[in-house]
Amino acid sequence: MALEVLNLSVSIGEKEILKDVTFRLERGETTILMGPNGGGKTTLSFAIMGHPKYNVSGKILLDGEDISKLPTHERALKGLGLAFQNPVEIPGLRFSSLLNAISIKKRTGELDMSKIDPKVIVWAGRKLGEVGLDRSFLEREVNIGFSGGEKKRSEIVQLMAMDPKYLILDEPDSGLDVDGIKIIGNIVNGLKANGKGILIITHHAEITKFVKPDKVMIMLNGSIVEEGGAELIEKVESRGYKGYER
Ligand code: ADP
Ligand code: MG
Repeated sequence: MALEVLNLSVSIGEKEILKDVTFRLERGETTILMGPNGGGKTTLSFAIMGHPKYNVSGKILLDGEDISKLPTHERALKGLGLAFQNPVEIPGLRFSSLLNAISIKKRTGELDMSKIDPKVIVWAGRKLGEVGLDRSFLEREVNIGFSGGEKKRSEIVQLMAMDPKYLILDEPDSGLDVDGIKIIGNIVNGLKANGKGILIITHHAEITKFVKPDKVMIMLNGSIVEEGGAELIEKVESRGYKGYER
């Protein structure tokens, strides 16, 4: 079973940002997508999630089902999850309420912001511990006043609550110190062992000290210019992205 992206092209107005991108994300595998700033990585993650601001052609299949025309929340309910490069702040929404709502929606299909399930709070306290955040974060408004690294950690806990089949992590390593990157790396390895399909977007190789990718893809100017195994990371480290420019 896989998430398949087929001939995906994306434009905003007259500007073409992604050109004919095709790849497969297998369950139980970690793929790393690398590339320089402005290459189109975040656009790819938004287009897969169904952000309405893009003109998109091509297809996205989730375990064989065409989800290309579905709105974002339906893609999420089918098992697609994205951790943002720049997590959004949500004033007025307590982190514990968000995790509760996600959990209840996931189990019952109902959106109910008023119920508090004590089991979810216990679960959330444990997960916060795993990502290195104090449980007092549960009482705070989502991402308000969080440092860059704390936002990244909170984002991972939200994704774990959603428990998607496929996870896209857009620069989960940015803003984190080496201990933080190690924590995220270990969580990714655990998710992989649980059969999730994972796409990690990054522009530097630090996280690969902790996560051994099954596949590496290099994206430049809106296209995947090379695919291979972990050996590509060394190539990028030594040559930089300049070596790919034509
Ligand atoms: P990356 O994540 O690889 O750094 P992005 O996907 O964020 O790259 O950006 C790819 C290109 O698309 C950039 O040139 C960026 O300026 C452009 N882009 C992104 N969003 C918009 C937008 N809303 N309008 C116009 N151009 C955009
Ligand atoms: Mg980006």
